[in-house]
Amino acid sequence: MLRNANSSAPLLRLYSIVFLFVLSGMAQAAYITVDEAGMDAIYAQTSFGNTPVDIRLGSAIEHVDPGLLTLDSATKWSALTSAHYGSATTVNFWFLDNITWCGNNFIFYVGCGETPGNDFVVESAYADSLFNAELLAHELGHNLGLPHNSGSNNLMDAFLNGGKDLSSTEVATIMSSPLVQFDNTGFFIEVLPVLVVAVATQVNAPAVSVLLLLGSFAVAYRRLRYGLKSGISGMSLAVR
Ligand SMILES: [Zn+2]
Repeated sequence: MLRNANSSAPLLRLYSIVFLFVLSGMAQAAYITVDEAGMDAIYAQTSFGNTPVDIRLGSAIEHVDPGLLTLDSATKWSALTSAHYGSATTVNFWFLDNITWCGNNFIFYVGCGETPGNDFVVESAYADSLFNAELLAHELGHNLGLPHNSGSNNLMDAFLNGGKDLSSTEVATIMSSPLVQFDNTGFFIEVLPVLVVAVATQVNAPAVSVLLLLGSFAVAYRRLRYGLKSGISGMSLAVR
């Protein structure tokens, strides 16, 4: 599955290259990648029964703060979560350049999420991989109150290895989260992607619009390992 060849990859990758070029021209490294369909599939898998949860992406937000391009301290973590956009039931997916702190210092963190909470952070370069949906869905799982769950196929497993399963017990925890809302179309979670930038791009939606998963970097084939801290949970890149 991880070596799945995307038949439409040439066009999408071209778009990706153009997009990155535009960003590099703005001296802005972080960028947003959200595989919404992939996340929807994870939150509508069999264990959800007749209560699938739709991941609803709102318009991306640009957060100007050069200091937050690297998350390396509790102070920055507090600044980031304090800047939360939307209501308490709105989850913010933060995309930045580098995470070296998530409860403790570790240079290989690539994601960090409140457990429970409504903010999580990922390194944009690592989010731009075939593991996008698994990575974001895992961190969202923490926001929904899920701890790690060892088991190679489980979404909350300590390894980012393609496992996306959620048990009925985990689904029950998710459904009891205040983040899960309900309207006449069913259950949903409202999400706002937030892009950290050094300076305002002064470009609206096109520059920070949510991209579908575009392709894979070599890093997609490496194993990633999650760190675990009470209150927040970091994801790290294992050395192998
Ligand atoms: Zn984790």
